[in-house]
Amino acid sequence: MKHPLSLALAIAVAGMAAAPVLVQAQQTAVSGAESLQGNPFLEKSTLPLEYPHFDRIRDEHFAPAFDAGMRQNLAEVEAIATNPEAPTFENTILELEKSGQLLGRAVRVFFNLVGTDTNDTRKQLQADYSARFAAHQDAIALNPQLFERIETLHENRDSLGLDAEGVRLVERYYTDFVRSGAKLDDAQKARLKEINAELAELGTKFSQNVLAEVNDSAVVVDTREELDGLTEAQISAAAEAAKSRGHEGKYVITLLNTTGQPPLSQLTNRDLRERIFKASVARGARGNEWDNTGIIAQVVKLRDERAKMLGYPNHATYVLEDETAKTPQAVNDMLGQLAPAAVANARREAADLQAMIDQEQAAKGEASFELEPWDWAFYTEKVRQARYDFDESQLKPYFEMKSVLEDGVFHAANQFYGISFKERTDLPKYHPDTWIYDVFDADGSQLAIFIFDPYARDSKRGGAWMNSYVSQSELEGTSPVVANHQNIPKPQAGEPTLLTWDEVITMFHEFGHALHGMFSDVTYPYFSGTSVPRDFVEFPSQVNEMWADWPSILANYAKHHETGEPMPQELLDKVLETARFNQGFATTEYLAAAMLDQRLHQAEGDAIPAADEIVRFEAEALAADGIDFAAVPPRYKLPYFSHIMGGYSAGYYAYIWSEVLDANTVKWIEEHGGLTRANGDRFRATLLSQGGSKDALQLFRDFSGADPDITPLLEKRGLVVPDTDDGAPPEAEPTTLPADS
Ligand SMILES: [Zn+2]
Repeated sequence: MKHPLSLALAIAVAGMAAAPVLVQAQQTAVSGAESLQGNPFLEKSTLPLEYPHFDRIRDEHFAPAFDAGMRQNLAEVEAIATNPEAPTFENTILELEKSGQLLGRAVRVFFNLVGTDTNDTRKQLQADYSARFAAHQDAIALNPQLFERIETLHENRDSLGLDAEGVRLVERYYTDFVRSGAKLDDAQKARLKEINAELAELGTKFSQNVLAEVNDSAVVVDTREELDGLTEAQISAAAEAAKSRGHEGKYVITLLNTTGQPPLSQLTNRDLRERIFKASVARGARGNEWDNTGIIAQVVKLRDERAKMLGYPNHATYVLEDETAKTPQAVNDMLGQLAPAAVANARREAADLQAMIDQEQAAKGEASFELEPWDWAFYTEKVRQARYDFDESQLKPYFEMKSVLEDGVFHAANQFYGISFKERTDLPKYHPDTWIYDVFDADGSQLAIFIFDPYARDSKRGGAWMNSYVSQSELEGTSPVVANHQNIPKPQAGEPTLLTWDEVITMFHEFGHALHGMFSDVTYPYFSGTSVPRDFVEFPSQVNEMWADWPSILANYAKHHETGEPMPQELLDKVLETARFNQGFATTEYLAAAMLDQRLHQAEGDAIPAADEIVRFEAEALAADGIDFAAVPPRYKLPYFSHIMGGYSAGYYAYIWSEVLDANTVKWIEEHGGLTRANGDRFRATLLSQGGSKDALQLFRDFSGADPDITPLLEKRGLVVPDTDDGAPPEAEPTTLPADS
């Protein structure tokens, strides 16, 4: 996320991580400040590290803080733009870096709460303000006097006496302003403002529809018998969910915002599996009030118009220019290189599943049936059991949530980086199901505050993500307050929270983003923590996944929640073995979504689908890319593909793009002694602490001493198609699925 003005907003929408926002409280009098009497956003929080005053923040505080914050910000910008003195780095760039304090504080808390615990008031505020925030950003980005100053500084950037980070900051401001339309003529600027306002409103509506549809599509089940295969705890949770939704005596299977749904791996009732799957994939295109197809069509059309106005053939070209990928061709080449191997592996896996179905049906004396998408997870589990003699449910007792966090995720960070953690209970919470930790550096000084928010709830958006309440910067003297969010089903009171292996991996992944935020050591807010290209930002988080199954780490946290017994060695070995399993499916469903995103945003003019063509467009795009394997649908279908309406438009490829760097880095660490403080300190010093203050690929080279190579990724995902196909499952290392939704 690059544009300093759009950060807080874009991040909240995209679920992307921290960012430099407008910082430092300016003590200038704000007109209308009297209406902010007692408003907790008016001043910096006095809590440790400026942790937000959740005990004082009420929903009615947001609108006045937004209004006054925008007024204050515009006044600051106007003062910078009309300063009679010649532009200097200090009176222009630094003043911009320090501006917008009040707005930044309010916006960050607001969008964090909209993502984690929304309600009707917050939804209404989001709808009311999305276009106004877009207009506010445009008022700054399209201010001609301001741009003139930035342009002058940019021309003279090498003679301003700045260090490398300062020069880069000037370059980034210049690029951001140009990409935001600063060089357009007045008529174009006027049209651009209309487009941005409309896109903001459409984006808000899209995300609200996704949440409404995932809740509305929950599947009601009449009898307990149909739930055969679920655990007692899951059945009670389903009964509880039914009760809270007014279906007392029945059961409700709630959905996640992915195409696949976890209970599909367990439910023996094939009809119910089919119902759940069909409910999942129908979301957002049902012709009801939450139908998203019209929004997608309109958004893509507006993005195309904007891209052309800015001098690009399409939205994807515009977006990718500012990423490490640089061009659609580079992205297409990479995805195209991976797709055939992924589909070939998925077809091999499907053959195994079909054999299992045929064998089972024959044993029952019944006719066989063809593998359907709602059968995949169920029979994969059976093949896994047959091949490795164990199933997922044997693992769960060893993955108690708090133990995974403290004895796994934290322990790994302690071993690699020397940092330590202490829970604190004195700070106010925005929701009772959150945990707060002080994070200490190796020398005992406080490094950050970490908020852990693991449970799913109807008011929380899908997926997992990291965000930031306070970002580190030397200019502001701030230290990070960061949070991790997941959607782990909450057990009934008194029951332990036992995780799946995927949930364990996701916890390590998100904490990798948190480390990127917490280790930030930059001068300017703009470059703080995860403020890097989005096709780079997933790289450090993916690297952190490597500790989940690192033997000494796994042994430290994988203990039976009742007996404390360590996970038996043979089960542990199986975890490692089966992590190599089902990778054709995982890669194919991911690539299908990534390629759909590219097709949609590389489309131009008449090729952009209308609302009633979205479903057909999707099918044709998958076929054209050779990734239309019916048994493995895309991880997200367009009508609930939140990434592409938010900050990941033309950017879902970023996960696998980042994974090239991840695979190279994991290999480097393994070849240099593995889990050592020396390796951790090196990764922190060369990369994690640098934020966006240097070119992203340079950071990678600084760490590894080499350019990235695609081979380790291909090996890791088992995507090297063997010359002679002997039918054996391909060898692959444990993979990293996109853990963020
Ligand atoms: Zn991530």
